[in-house]
Amino acid sequence: MDRSERARPSKETPGEREASANFIRDIIVQDIQSNKNRGRVATRFPPEPNGYLHIGHAKAFCLNFGMAEEFNGTCNLRLDDTNPSKEEVEYVESIKQDIRWMGFDWEDRLYYASDYFDKLYEYAVQLIKAGKAYVCCLPPDKVSEYRGVFGRPGTDSPYRNRPIEENLRLFEAMRRGELAEGSHVLRAKIDMASPNMNMRDPTVYRILKVPHHRTGDKWCIYPMYDFAHCLSDSIEGITHSLCSIEFEDHRPLYDWFLDQLEVPCHPQQIEFARLNLSYTVLSKRYLQQLIDEGFVTGWYDPRMPTLSGMRRRGYTPDAIKTFMERIGIAKKEGVVDVSLLEYILREQLNLTSPRVMAVLDPIKIVIDNYPEGQSEEFDAPYHPDDPSMGSRKVPFSRVIYIERDDFREQPPKKWFRLAPGREIRLRYACLIKFVNAVKDAKTGEIVEIHCTWDPESRGGNAPDGRKVQGTSHWVSAAHAISAEVRLYDRLFNKPHPMSLKDGSKFTDHINPESLKTMTNCKLEPSLKGAPKGARYQFERLGYFCVDSLDSTEQHLVFNRTISLRDSWEKIEKAIKT
Ligand code: ATP
Ligand code: MG
Repeated sequence: MDRSERARPSKETPGEREASANFIRDIIVQDIQSNKNRGRVATRFPPEPNGYLHIGHAKAFCLNFGMAEEFNGTCNLRLDDTNPSKEEVEYVESIKQDIRWMGFDWEDRLYYASDYFDKLYEYAVQLIKAGKAYVCCLPPDKVSEYRGVFGRPGTDSPYRNRPIEENLRLFEAMRRGELAEGSHVLRAKIDMASPNMNMRDPTVYRILKVPHHRTGDKWCIYPMYDFAHCLSDSIEGITHSLCSIEFEDHRPLYDWFLDQLEVPCHPQQIEFARLNLSYTVLSKRYLQQLIDEGFVTGWYDPRMPTLSGMRRRGYTPDAIKTFMERIGIAKKEGVVDVSLLEYILREQLNLTSPRVMAVLDPIKIVIDNYPEGQSEEFDAPYHPDDPSMGSRKVPFSRVIYIERDDFREQPPKKWFRLAPGREIRLRYACLIKFVNAVKDAKTGEIVEIHCTWDPESRGGNAPDGRKVQGTSHWVSAAHAISAEVRLYDRLFNKPHPMSLKDGSKFTDHINPESLKTMTNCKLEPSLKGAPKGARYQFERLGYFCVDSLDSTEQHLVFNRTISLRDSWEKIEKAIKT
């Protein structure tokens, strides 16, 4: 079986558009065959520490670390910290944590672009000495005016032909902090008439009198991304510099800098399509806006597409990796249906989560013919198809809870759950039969339901073989533990909240039901002491995990990772018709 076959899903899955090809793998295979870079593969993942990583970043680092792993190469983690005004240590730590959680290891190769500030400065001096860079004193608005527009050549800066000596002196003055922010920049001298705007004498260094989280106030000039990035790659001996498609137009500049300078090696930049996902936004700027405007509680809100949010929500690294394998790597951008990710997650949680019983919106059932003060236990397997998961005992007694929704006073057609005159099965336990419902005199709300049980039906079936179709999950009131359960759902109710052409803002399409908090939930006692992050299937309800931030021994908090079935499919069909 070849690799692409292995990556192909075994059956048709929702949202799937093509088999998971990876053209970058093909390039690397060719390079190894032709002994380019002496067969070496060195990649890097270069996040900017100005926010938390989202699932789009995961695509990039699964690719970079994945290719290195597959071809016995190395992948560096490089924090691209060239813009001190937006970067924070909190972000650096979260980035490291997220990559480790996904199971990747940069070993001792954690680098910072700021490690290279001295070298980068020397390279800039080299560029000036070669007559390939100049200090420009045009104010920022003039710089962009002179740059011109696409389709028409720009105009040379009046400072373009400054003598080399003067450029060196001014650049040094920039470095020493003698010049004001915005008054001078160092620019590469390339071509103001280039059809590629990136080649019209791009800025190489700018003055920023802002302390840096690692270099303190050593520097008041900082290199631009295009300059720092290719040189950092070269310094680290990267062979394949994999980046997302928006850098395609920057590749000529990437190559230009490396061609002008005496560098250790010339890595190959290869671009691939960004990940776009329906029902969400994937851009740090917009995620920050969701936080700032209070739509979510932070980067690690379980509704966020950040890895910290997804981890807290209960996603597994394996599900995310499998998703990346299935969508593959291509050049052409598109939007991947989030239901593919959810499908993969469900498939995995189904196999790995122990099944337990929890009642989220309880109604009390009193079993009239069960003696008060008595109890017994039923054996319940953790997984019907996986005996290796074992089983636990669930206690049963006179008063139990079932979901309020599992009883109807006036049942519709085809209702198999509890109703007047009906008999139902309690999962793993026995059969119970309706007697009467007690209502609150004032509100008319049902406060408790009386039933009888059939002691002969222990285990769930009647000895006379009578058919009972409905099964409810339940917990014994005397043994239940209380919990808060947060029902999370998709954050947006439109598949493409960013690109609606009706003048609306993406925040107009927040799903008002993306979080529903249930505060009076009753769980079976085996869940006592469930550790943070532990995942379960709550029978008939979905997949849940213990919240890693707010859950305590006294106050258990569970997050719904995902429901059992895709209820959105129906909603989408309804929208379309
Ligand atoms: P954002 O647009 O969310 O602000 P960014 O590209 O500015 O992201 P960086 O920290 O610069 O964020 O990204 C690090 C790496 O992750 C880059 O190489 C970038 O190409 C890649 N990346 C970012 N977003 C995506 C995405 N949606 N799909 C694939 N790769 C991505
Ligand atoms: Mg960026």
